[in-house]
Amino acid sequence: MSDDVTMDKIVSLSRRRGFVFPSSEIYGGMGSTFDYGHYGVLMKNNIRERWFEAMVRNRDDIVAIDSAVILHPRVWEASGHVAGFTDPLIDCRTCKLRFRADKLEDSSCGRKPSKHPGETPECDLTEPRRFNLMFETTVGALQEEGSRAYLRPETAQGIFINFKNVLQIARRKPPFGIAQIGKSFRNEITPGNFLFRVREFEQMEMEFFVPPDEAEKWYRYWIDERLNWYRRYGLRDSKLRVREHGPDERSHYSQGTSDIEYDYPIGWSELEGIANRGDFDLTQHAEHSTTKLEYVGQDGERYVPYVIEPAVSIERIMVALIVDAYDEEVVGERERTVLRLHPKMAPVTAAILPLIGKSDEMVAKARSLYEDLRRRHSVEYDDGGAIGRRYRRQDEIGTPWAFTVDEQTLQDDTVTVRDRDSLAQERIPIAGVRDWLEDALERDWKSPKGN
Ligand code: ATP
Repeated sequence: MSDDVTMDKIVSLSRRRGFVFPSSEIYGGMGSTFDYGHYGVLMKNNIRERWFEAMVRNRDDIVAIDSAVILHPRVWEASGHVAGFTDPLIDCRTCKLRFRADKLEDSSCGRKPSKHPGETPECDLTEPRRFNLMFETTVGALQEEGSRAYLRPETAQGIFINFKNVLQIARRKPPFGIAQIGKSFRNEITPGNFLFRVREFEQMEMEFFVPPDEAEKWYRYWIDERLNWYRRYGLRDSKLRVREHGPDERSHYSQGTSDIEYDYPIGWSELEGIANRGDFDLTQHAEHSTTKLEYVGQDGERYVPYVIEPAVSIERIMVALIVDAYDEEVVGERERTVLRLHPKMAPVTAAILPLIGKSDEMVAKARSLYEDLRRRHSVEYDDGGAIGRRYRRQDEIGTPWAFTVDEQTLQDDTVTVRDRDSLAQERIPIAGVRDWLEDALERDWKSPKGN
């Protein structure tokens, strides 16, 4: 098995197999913006679904919310984003490129041979200035001062401003959480590395409200929970680590932040952040909106809860999963590319293939199995071309199993199941396929690439 995965290989596979396309390509492209094709959509659905299941459906203490993208502009004043959600920006007067002052080490100068900005004698860098990452827009027909609004740069604020609604209507008591999935927008100075840093992304955030003296305990708890979620879905231990931020690195609201990092082809980088936001957000919104945002117990006890926040984007998970799963190997003198994805993350759970696409009987049996399975699972029917080619197409999109209808099926109503990773084939009765698949999906799974 190979672990020689580059971002280029991932980009090329994603495009070739229709996971992700560069956006607006027929107009020359729009840098660092992507459109998702069929398999990309299916995989994103799986990531979203697995997160929601772990964070909301399987718990008693977390509820969901779906807030607006464009909130009252004062939300972003209260949250500190208008004043402080900035990156330090540097321009080069020579090559006209723009860099993040805190990421010069990771940037390349526009001159050849490429060096870091500031390293060639011709580099003429400006002093750093603060650049706000929020996209501005105007609401209503008039472009006047009062109509300025922002596209949300995080989903969290939509949760804080609904704290009171949830507390009252969902009758919750700390510790409890509110979870949200939705698009966030950031005008990143240096987007790039495929989906890793994009200007619009789908965030999955959960704000967990706790009594202040329990904040540290819950902060540790959520680091463990989230790390275990990644392990459960197959990311290898050797590629995951937790890195605690130093005090100078933390955001303005944070009392403690840890990143779950993944060893991407660009090196160890933040996959997910877990922050102890203290009572910063509720206190700020209470002050700016003059609405009390606190918990009052039946015995009269009252306090502003602290908040623990696990925050991640579907994009960063998707890149980590594909990178972790990507493999190339030679089987019987032929090379194959295979995505060894966790079966519950793979876009297609099973392929149903008639061995001979021109055989009406095989096609009929295969179609009938497909129509039965598709009511519950993401499955694909394919009768085009040589069977080897069809298997390899499924390997490339990470389909864990293929059920093949062949001559023998017509005699005894059994099919073969081919395993994507081991390539082993076994025969099972057609009538048992549905149960077989349910069982297989519930089995513990470990990456065949090892730890
Ligand atoms: P970075 O330091 O990489 O810019 P950040 O610390 O600003 O990230 P947070 O504000 O903590 O990121 O956002 C929470 C999560 O949202 C990140 O862990 C990441 O998964 C995701 N995320 C943030 N910015 C982007 C982006 N531009 N593209 C894709 N995902 C993003």
